[in-house]
Formats: sequence, C-alpha cells, structure tokens
Amino acid sequence: MTNVGVTKDRAQPGHAERRAAVFVACFGIIVAAAASPFGTSISGVSAALPSALISAAIVSMIVTAAVLRYFYQASSFPPHAILGIAFACTGGLLIPYVFATLELASSTPSPAAAQFAGWLWVCWHAAFILMIGGYVWAEAYFSRVKLTLERERLVVRNVAIVAVGFASGLVVLLLVYAHSLPSLQTPGGLFTPTFHSVVEDLLLALCAAVCAALTFKTGLNKTLHLWLAVVLVLFACEVFVDGEIAHKVSSMPWYAGLAEGIAWQSVLLVVLLRHANDQLASFVANNRKLAQETIVDALTGLLNRRGFDERFAEIMAETRLLHSPTALLALDIDNFKRYNDHYGHVAGDAALQTIGAAIKSVTIRPRDLAARVGGEEFAIVLPFTDEAGAMVVAERMRTAILRLRLQHAPGVSFRLLSASIGIAVTDGDLDPLAFREQADRALYNAKHLGRNRIARHRTEEEQIPHLRVV
Ligand code: GH3
Ligand code: MG
Ligand code: MG
Repeated sequence: MTNVGVTKDRAQPGHAERRAAVFVACFGIIVAAAASPFGTSISGVSAALPSALISAAIVSMIVTAAVLRYFYQASSFPPHAILGIAFACTGGLLIPYVFATLELASSTPSPAAAQFAGWLWVCWHAAFILMIGGYVWAEAYFSRVKLTLERERLVVRNVAIVAVGFASGLVVLLLVYAHSLPSLQTPGGLFTPTFHSVVEDLLLALCAAVCAALTFKTGLNKTLHLWLAVVLVLFACEVFVDGEIAHKVSSMPWYAGLAEGIAWQSVLLVVLLRHANDQLASFVANNRKLAQETIVDALTGLLNRRGFDERFAEIMAETRLLHSPTALLALDIDNFKRYNDHYGHVAGDAALQTIGAAIKSVTIRPRDLAARVGGEEFAIVLPFTDEAGAMVVAERMRTAILRLRLQHAPGVSFRLLSASIGIAVTDGDLDPLAFREQADRALYNAKHLGRNRIARHRTEEEQIPHLRVV
C-alpha cells in the first residue's frame, strides 16, 4: 500500500514522469554547478526578496501537508500523514525564520538575529531530513504491519504531537541559547568554518543516508517515492550551494540556494495536485459510467426501465409544452414463454438481444427512444410523430423482427418469432400514465386479435389492417 492516492496503478510513474523527475533533479544540479564560480559575488541585497520567497515556501509546504492529509484520509495509509507532518512542521519552523531574515535585512541587523537565523536554518533542515527518514521507516513498517484504524490514528496523532512539540521546543531553545552556540556567520555576513562543516558533515551526510534508504526500501517505483527522491536531490543541492559554494549572505550562490530551497519545498505539491486532478478525473469518468450503466439494459444495450421512465417524463413535459404529437409503441414478443421453454433461457436471451438490435435499427431519429421495460416487453417513444408516422415505424419494426427469421417453438401458430405492437399518440393532453395505459390497451388488442400485428388506440377499439406471416 505505497500508493500516492487511492488507486495503486495510477501511482506508478510512467516513462514521461520518470524523465520529468530526472530532468528536474538534473536542473537542480546544473543550477548548483553554475553557481559555483560566484562564491562571494553580491547580486544586490534586497530586503524583501528572501522573506517573500520564504513566505511563499511556507504556504506551499503547508498546502503540501494539507493535500497529504487528504490522501491519508482517502488511503488510510499512515505514512502519508507522517509525510504531511514533516512538511507542516518544516513550514512551521520557517515562520520564525522569515522574521529573522526580515531583521537581518534591516539597516542595523542584530548579531543575535543572525545567530538565531543561522542555527534555525541548520535545525529545520536537519529536522526535515530526519522526518523524511521517519517517513521512509514508516513506509516499510506500515507496509508490513496492519494496525486497526483506531491504532493507526493514534500513531498519527502521537507523531503529530511529538513533531509539533519538538519543533516548538527547538525554536524556544534557539531563541534562548543560540547566542551561546558557535558562530555561523561573521559580522560581515561571511559564513564561518563551523557553518561549512556542520552543513557538510551533518546535513549532506543525513540527506545522503535518507536518500539511500528511500531508494533501497522503495525502489522509487511509486510516483511519491520518485518525487521525494527529487526533493532530496534538490535539498542536497540547496545545502551544498549554501554550505560549500556561497561564502556570504546575499551572494549570488546564496540566492541560487534560496531558489533550490523553494524548488524542493514546492515540487511535491505540484506532483500531488496533478495526481489529485487525475484521480478526480477518473472518479468523474467512473461516476458517469456508473450513472450510464444504471439506465442501460445490459442484455440489449437499450435503455432499461429506469432510463425509460426518466427520458419518458422529459419527453412528455416537452410534448405538453409544444403541443406536438408524440407516439408511444408498446411492443411484446409473441408466445415468448414457449420459445424460452423450448430453446432454453440462454437462447431466449440471445433472441432478446437480436430483437433489441432490430428495434434499435428502426428507431433512427436522434430523439427516438427505445427501451426494454420488462422481460420481453419494449417501449418505443417517437417524439414529433403522428399516428400515421407511428404506424410506419411500427410496421418496420414488426417486419424487422420477422426478418430475423428466428424459428419459433414447435406448436406455435407462427413459424417465426414475432411481436405485437400497440400504438398510442398524444399531443400533450394525456398524463404519462394514461398515455402508457392507452398503448398497453392497444397492445392487448393486438394480442387478442391474433398476435403478430399492430393495433392503435381507439376509443371504439378499431383495429388496424395488418400483415400476417404465412
Ligand atoms: P404473449 O404472446 O401473450 O406475450 O405470451 P408470452 O409467452 O410472450 O408472455 P408471458 O408473459 O406468458 O411470458 C413471457 C416470458 O418471457 C416469460 C419468460 O419465459 C420470458 N422472459 C421474460 N424475461 C426474460 C429474459 O430476460 N430472458 C429470457 N430468456 N426470457 C425472458
Ligand atoms: Mg410476450
Ligand atoms: Mg409480456
């Protein structure tokens, strides 16, 4: 259960996605390499830019955490929540960092702010990478062990409490004790050897270890893991640029590091939103398919009773509105019980299927409606059709069924499977029920008068001349 969303197969990255991931990771590496020759070159100190960029990163990390929480709700897979907690806590740690960068951008930055910002930077990077390590462990653990839903929720809640407590404690400790830690920056903004060694020894080593664990444990063959590896590569690029290349705050590589930071803090959000969108699209398509299936008869592909009722009500409303003639044909296969009894149910179904296709082939106007409303009973609605038109269509239908030349059961008076059809026409003066009753009565008459024939509704129950099969 290591999927990004609900459906497993959609979480498998395709070739295009793998290429995109490699491209993004390579781009990060190229940016880091391109920044190398410019260690101390200043690209212009902008008071607002770093804070604005970091604020944007906070928003994207919090939104990433929220999306991961929704994925957790959909998948009930705790590592999704744990990854969300990692992003939420890191985003939270960035909030005091923004205030520190604002102070650093002032005309008289306090050394305490620089010390606090430097150590907070180191700590939130270390915290993030450790939490990603926790996520990798959780992936392996929860793929192996299945806890009850309550226990899973409890684990997630405890992880959240511990992470938030740890992050808050860290900020408080740094506010109080950062000044007594080794200096990371000189008053002129140059990074000290301590900063370089902490970054190199601690952060890059941690990142390499977590990246190796992620690759080894997951094989990177799920979208989430693939892109998380990209996040770690960009993270390493940022840390490398800041720790190895940038020798000074606001130098060109320092901004490159900032950009690498924004990239790893946002890339997962883009991927998650795209997957959420894919899933939404697939849910909508499935829903549409299911809604379609509920109104279609599986045997004949015509509308079923429910579909007929819905469409019939609409057509009747239109008929009433426009006062246009609408014809209703009630069609019933003759002596079908005998056919079924003789040839069996499977052959009966096959006959119904062929007859359904024959009926469909006759109702050619786009607004005509054909439905299987009972076992061997069909209803055909012909909007904008008067009685003469309905007679023509009904006759075509009757002969189309005969032309199928389905041999009837021995002993039935007709050699071939046939149908009787009752016709009623209204121009909106009838309610749907009365209209259907008229068509049914006409059908009854057709049956009564010998089957394989058409009868139209008449108050005087006049019968229509008809063709008979010889
Ligand atoms: P009539 O000419 O008066 O309509 O006689 P009938 O035998 O067609 O009518 P009746 O209502 O007595 O029997 C209908 C038969 O249709 C019953 C059943 O054997 C068959 N039938 C109904 N639904 C299905 C179905 O879905 N598949 C199959 N194979 N047979 C069905
Ligand atoms: Mg019948
Ligand atoms: Mg019947």
